[in-house]
Amino acid sequence: MRLVIAQMKHETNTFSPVPTPLARFARGSGAPLEGDAVREAFKGTGTAIGAFIEAADKAGAEAVYPVAGNAAPSGPVQAAAYEHMAGRIVDAVAKGCDAVLLDLHGAMVTEKHDDGEGELLRRIREVAPDVPIAVALDMHTNLSPEMARLATSIAGYQTYPHVDMHETGARAARPVLALLEGKARPVLAAGARPMLPHVMRQSSLDSPNREIQARARDMERSGEALSATFFVGFPHADIPIAGSSAVVVTDGDAARARTLSEELLDMAWAAREKFVYRPEPLRESIARAMSLRAGPVVLLDHYDNCASGGTMDTMTVLEALIEAGIEDACAFAICDPAAVEQMKRAGEGARVTLSLGGKSDLPSLGLKGRPLSVTGNVRKLVNGLYRNEGPMARGELADMGAAGVLDTGRIAIAVISRHVEPHDIAAFKVLGLDPEKRRYVMLKSRVHWRAGLGPLAREVVECAGTGVCTSDYSQLNFRRVRRPIYPLDAECPPTALVF
Ligand SMILES: [Zn+2]
Repeated sequence: MRLVIAQMKHETNTFSPVPTPLARFARGSGAPLEGDAVREAFKGTGTAIGAFIEAADKAGAEAVYPVAGNAAPSGPVQAAAYEHMAGRIVDAVAKGCDAVLLDLHGAMVTEKHDDGEGELLRRIREVAPDVPIAVALDMHTNLSPEMARLATSIAGYQTYPHVDMHETGARAARPVLALLEGKARPVLAAGARPMLPHVMRQSSLDSPNREIQARARDMERSGEALSATFFVGFPHADIPIAGSSAVVVTDGDAARARTLSEELLDMAWAAREKFVYRPEPLRESIARAMSLRAGPVVLLDHYDNCASGGTMDTMTVLEALIEAGIEDACAFAICDPAAVEQMKRAGEGARVTLSLGGKSDLPSLGLKGRPLSVTGNVRKLVNGLYRNEGPMARGELADMGAAGVLDTGRIAIAVISRHVEPHDIAAFKVLGLDPEKRRYVMLKSRVHWRAGLGPLAREVVECAGTGVCTSDYSQLNFRRVRRPIYPLDAECPPTALVF
């Protein structure tokens, strides 16, 4: 048995000014991994592709690894980057294989294609019309009818923070491997509802997504479905297919797959008002944070989350915290390669004044970048490579680029050169920061921080700053998403979209 195993992951925020070249899909080098280097990098990790590798080994299959690329969310993927990765995957399939196992995101928009994953599957089908294809997807997938039509098996994360990547890979691959062994006949049904849940209300730790994901897991445990997935969708993508969807795979029972996927979608639609997030004015959030006695208090700068396409360099929240006189604090992170260079030139222990952050303009919001002058001592300069401790993407190598800590005496600010969301304690350890010992911890994150740092937070204060991950949809100029759609259109009818 010969399997093609590949990864090509990107969540595209069409409002983001951050470019997405091929190098963004690499870790610690200029291009995504290929060949046996993929196997070495991901075997034993808590990722979907890690699960594929284990499944291939267990089946005694020969596996080839044309490419593994995973970029932090940003603007549309550059055409050359897409062609590089998609080309390698299609070429490997064209050489002949028994099945294809793909670790994709599901919300990839390229310079040329609204639906990067659907386009990839279309190209694979051109060279291999009948090969079984298993696809593991992120919960933030904007599912297209093409993806549902062309894949043999689809499974998406059932947790947000995403701590079930490995299980999802196994759930996606199992029906396809069973098909090859003649033990199952996977059929798939998918659909959508016209709704754009706010990311800040999407966590599976909270209602209503907790109950919807629990029901999806029940469908699998009871044997009703081979896999069942509800995708919350990724709203910061102004494309027609953005929004919530569901996909269910059963063993040969198309009608039941349809009934179950509609059940998940009906649950989501009924709970649509609970998926609406109402931001608090920043001034009130800061005042509330200052009145809290016991720490650590997590201060979420959630409008600028790099794991949703944020530039990770807007200074609104950090400036407000400095002005409020907050102390005993650390912040992760400001992404500013030029500032890191200045810190490196000065050296550890030196006192520097930096024009920090604000290097990116935000044209989709009509805003210019606004740096903040900050003075502090340079502490702990590092190359920025670290390995996730988990539970999210356990064992995977992460790369914040050259990085250091600027310590103002009141706030220790992590300054980094590549986008990483603070969801893992290892990101702090490598910089010599111990958030557990701080009264305040500012994070540029929305939900994923809860994976590795949730247990240490005594209190959480959500701070509405500036950025392309704004939870205030009125700040975003939606032009292409299908309409009507809730909550952009309050009186939206519950149109069932069947794929
Ligand atoms: Zn996601």
